[in-house]
Formats: sequence, structure tokens, C-alpha cells
Amino acid sequence: MTTGPIVFLDVDGVLNSYDQLEESKRLRGMAPKHVAELARVLRETDAKVVVSSVWRFELNDDGSSRRGTRFRDELLEKGDDGRLVLKRIIGRTKDLWGKAPDKKSVRGFEIQTWREEHDHVGSFVIVDDDSDMGPLKPRLVKTDNALGLTRKEGDEMIRRLRGES
Ligand SMILES: [Mg+2]
Repeated sequence: MTTGPIVFLDVDGVLNSYDQLEESKRLRGMAPKHVAELARVLRETDAKVVVSSVWRFELNDDGSSRRGTRFRDELLEKGDDGRLVLKRIIGRTKDLWGKAPDKKSVRGFEIQTWREEHDHVGSFVIVDDDSDMGPLKPRLVKTDNALGLTRKEGDEMIRRLRGES
């Protein structure tokens, strides 16, 4: 059984945003201000993290990361905040693209499958700039990918992880 609050974490559009690199029009890397906001949420809630982003393929099933991967290096570059995020990661979702009942809810299906396989009991939020969550949509705290994770979404995540709404 896995207990306690969990953040299901997307990366592109959450830990980076279009506004940081306007010229390239691409989402790239992770920005310190968004990593800091996630770290604030984790400090205030003691939540663990399960990575649901495409970046998860750089992680092992148990959430550990290999040296030299971009995922790990991007976080380590952010100092204490990034190290805290790394420490809180306990897993990653499976790639169930071909198995989800419908293409509009793939990520939600992958998250639900993780919770079932790990017998998760506790509050959880999904932070993502996309909405393909199916029945888990009420758990979504949606970011604007032009802004990334801001204090507004961070506060909402904290409220939900504490079970206040
Ligand atoms: Mg995204």
C-alpha cells in the first residue's frame, strides 16, 4: 500500500513555459521559478511525486533517476528546490497509450492504473497543462503553458492535497 498525498507531475507546460524562451517557441528544460513553486507545495504538504510526463522515460519504475539524464541534471541545477523534488519522487506512470479506453483520457488512465497497482490511499492532485484525464479530471490543477506553474496553481494544489476542497 502507498499512503499519503501524491502529486502526479507533468513537466512541459508546468516546470517550463513558453514565455521563458519566446524566440524558440519551444518548451525546454525546467525553469527555477516553477521548480521553486513545486518545492513549496511539497514542503507545505509532505506530498510525494509520481512523474506522469513524457520525461518519465528517463526514470526507473521506482522513480530513481540515472546519472547524466536531463531530468536529473535539470533538477540538480536548481539547488535545494530541485534536490527536494528529486527526493520526493517515488515512481512514474506506465506508458498505456495503446491500452487506454479512449485517446482523450490516456494520461488519466495511466495515473489511475498507477494508483490501483500501488494501492494508493490518500489525497492526490494532477498538475498538467493538458486535460486528457478522463474520470480523473476533477483532480486536475491545470496550468497555462504560457506561464507554467505559478503561485495560484500551487495554492490550489496545497488546498487539495490537504483535503480542504
Ligand atoms: Mg505538458
